[in-house]
Amino acid sequence: NKQVILRHYAKGFPKETDLKVSTGTIHLKVPEGSNAVVVKNLYLSCDPYMPSCMQEDNSIGMPSFTPGSAINGYGVAKVLDSGHPDFKEGDLIWGMIGWEEYSLITTPETFFKIEHTDVPLSYYTGLLGMAGMTAYGGFFEVCSPKEGESVFISAASGAVGQLVGQFAKLMGCYVVGSVGSKEKVDLLKNKLGFNEAFNYKEEHDLDAALKRYFPEGIDIYFENVGGKMLDAALHNMRLHGRIAICGMISQYSLDQPEGVDLMCLVHKRTRMEGFVVTDYFHLYSKFLDMLLPSIREGKIVYVEDIAEGLESGPSAILGLFNGSNVGKKLVKVACE
Ligand code: NDP
Repeated sequence: NKQVILRHYAKGFPKETDLKVSTGTIHLKVPEGSNAVVVKNLYLSCDPYMPSCMQEDNSIGMPSFTPGSAINGYGVAKVLDSGHPDFKEGDLIWGMIGWEEYSLITTPETFFKIEHTDVPLSYYTGLLGMAGMTAYGGFFEVCSPKEGESVFISAASGAVGQLVGQFAKLMGCYVVGSVGSKEKVDLLKNKLGFNEAFNYKEEHDLDAALKRYFPEGIDIYFENVGGKMLDAALHNMRLHGRIAICGMISQYSLDQPEGVDLMCLVHKRTRMEGFVVTDYFHLYSKFLDMLLPSIREGKIVYVEDIAEGLESGPSAILGLFNGSNVGKKLVKVACE
């Protein structure tokens, strides 16, 4: 059973060498009398919270990985053997699995069963999985969007951002995204239907960039990066604007977070609200009802960046922090 193992807790921001790929053994039958399932892992999601779990003390509210054991994360798997009445051999599921070829899952009831397989299975690591639910909950539940509003999204070509932008366009909003390369700017404008996009690395004055794209201000800011971008967005909100704090990837690798000017919230009566995707998992079937027809009709598209094999896992995770992923990053472990 090939696995991606945490060698030791990372000192400072994690490096690829804090992980290693090695082979262990696993019994592919569920122990007698147990409620567990044994699965073959197919796709693994690479997510920005994961390096924090490689540190002993993390402030993200997720359990740290265990040194010497396989790391874990969201993924898609196929049931090989089941002791649980709700699961049978051949079922496809998504949820928290080990970064390994096969896993013994002792809490299968925390998984979602995959019922719709006419769309790519890998989508359940992104669009139809955790990232999709993040975009859906964060945009519709936290931002309360209205037709015609002006929406700004940072890390806009990523797993979450590309979907928020498309949701906003479907709502009839004006949508602008910031990204870190020309290739990603083109992707937003030509494939994902954003009205405008800019490369934040080429803007020496983010405040001026936002004024250029939002001369009358921003109604909704979907925050993925934090730091200087949040500061610039705060200064460009319209009266009664909303900011969904989804994440702040620019801050995760810093020892000291950058400061922002929160007094702007007062002057502009801005509502800023953080959220965690699991708050919205109870809406999953409503989310599928909304999204699946749009995917089938081609009204929603999704850009994936698939790395092959567990060996590529460490660089796939850490590549999220230099923007080398174009779209949702995931690792393909095996074919169904
Ligand atoms: P992405 O697919 O967007 O990948 C990360 C991207 O972030 C990179 O490609 C890069 O794009 C950008 N980035 C990396 N470093 C920086 C930096 N220093 N400054 C600006 N941009 C940077 O990731 P996700 O869509 O999966 O996640 C987006 C955000 O959502 C993250 O903050 C994550 O923590 C958060 N999140 C929150 C959840 C919740 O429950 N609240 C659940 C899931 C995700 P570029 O080339 O454009 O710079």
